[in-house]
Amino acid sequence: MASFPRRRRRRAVIIGGSMSGLFTAAFLHRIGWDIDVFERSPVELVGRGAGITTHPELLEALEKSGAGTRDLGIELEKRITIDRQGRVIGERLLRQIVTSWDRLQRLLRDTVDPAHYHLGQTFERVEQDGHSVRIHFADGRIERADLLVGADGIRSGVRAQVAPEVQPIYAGYYIWRGTPNESDLAPQTLGSIFPHFVFFLPERQQVIGYPIAGFDNDLRPGHRRYNFIWYRVGDAKTLKDMCVDENGRQHKYSVPPTLIRKDFIAQMRADAEGIMPAAFLDCLRNIERPFFTPIRDFCAPRIVFGRVALVGDAGSSSRPHMGFGVSKAAGDAQRLADALDAYDDVDAALADYNAVRQPIGEHVMLHGRKVGAYLGVGLKTDEDRRMWKLLQDHEAMMDWIAVPNFLAAYR
Ligand SMILES: Cc1cc2nc3c(=O)[nH]c(=O)nc-3n(C[C@H](O)[C@H](O)[C@H](O)COP(=O)(O)OP(=O)(O)OC[C@H]3O[C@@H](n4cnc5c(N)ncnc54)[C@H](O)[C@@H]3O)c2cc1C
Repeated sequence: MASFPRRRRRRAVIIGGSMSGLFTAAFLHRIGWDIDVFERSPVELVGRGAGITTHPELLEALEKSGAGTRDLGIELEKRITIDRQGRVIGERLLRQIVTSWDRLQRLLRDTVDPAHYHLGQTFERVEQDGHSVRIHFADGRIERADLLVGADGIRSGVRAQVAPEVQPIYAGYYIWRGTPNESDLAPQTLGSIFPHFVFFLPERQQVIGYPIAGFDNDLRPGHRRYNFIWYRVGDAKTLKDMCVDENGRQHKYSVPPTLIRKDFIAQMRADAEGIMPAAFLDCLRNIERPFFTPIRDFCAPRIVFGRVALVGDAGSSSRPHMGFGVSKAAGDAQRLADALDAYDDVDAALADYNAVRQPIGEHVMLHGRKVGAYLGVGLKTDEDRRMWKLLQDHEAMMDWIAVPNFLAAYR
């Protein structure tokens, strides 16, 4: 009987222990690769980010990766748009599960053997010889593998080494965010906006809210939180000023929530009093420590560099209007594993991964810019202006923001 040579067991080192790193670890493990995840944070990743809208692609990847979808989140039935007086001026029936970053992290973290998830390990540089990689960490540790996966986010250090020219671009707007506790909100807020995906759309601003699980994934009524997001336009100079912290230190990209200047927060709260409906004001007043995130996007022209592959936000990141970042990360990880499973030749598999996923990342980024036209920043072409006009109608906004299956037309 003819015997076929068995494939040598292969090893991937994954930099970044968040969404895309964990998805990659789960999928590669399932095709028989040895994996090790190296995360810079010295402590478990909890309490990061807030609400995450889900898409069919994400639910499928959670099931196929072995993470599953148990107690994933809250299923919403509809979207509404309200006006300044809190009156409902538009409504869409749309079932959608909204979850939280913490819940996803927990489900995915459980798929990885703790012995292969290393906290407090900061990637420094990689060398490659065509068949393998040698990875250096800040503490002097060196690891060898067949593949290095950069899953280290929008400011990826892996990408900085293989494609230093690729830099995220500030969109010209930022968001204030926070998650008030359900138990702190007024009965009127709970009865009006709390159960729904809600839009409030003053000129060149956008307020969005939806319920998410409470502390420790508590989904019981009375124990949940509300995900509050307020988009505001601000030029590069405004952002630079906002990036000076409470101690007068200038930050390059953003400011840690605890260091955001109190005068900015006070000004933001005062501005809100002048424009927002009572229910959203109630949310904001119950956010003890609101924080801001500048909106940036980019797409690397390649996501494979020899034996280095980028996944998730390291390869491309879009403006968050579609709520698709984690779904995109999951799709990258899934395709990378599918390709490595289908091809014996790692380089052929990586070429396949690049050919399929890079254009998707680019498409998602461009789609995010389209939806972001609502805010009226940097409208250059007739198409930009057409989108801007279309989205001034709140009915259109409910059809474009974070809707499932927006990629179907592209495929
Ligand atoms: C305001 C906002 C709202 C969003 N809403 C949604 C939503 O509703 N739905 C959705 O799907 N997505 C949403 N996203 C996007 C989503 O959060 C990201 O796409 C997702 O977190 C990307 O995951 P990642 O693992 O690629 O990167 P990250 O989550 O950024 O993780 C990168 C990890 O790498 C680690 N790391 C970095 N450098 C090193 C190093 N040198 N060595 C070792 N480790 C390192 C970091 O500590 C971090 O843990 C939103 C984003 C924003 C900003």
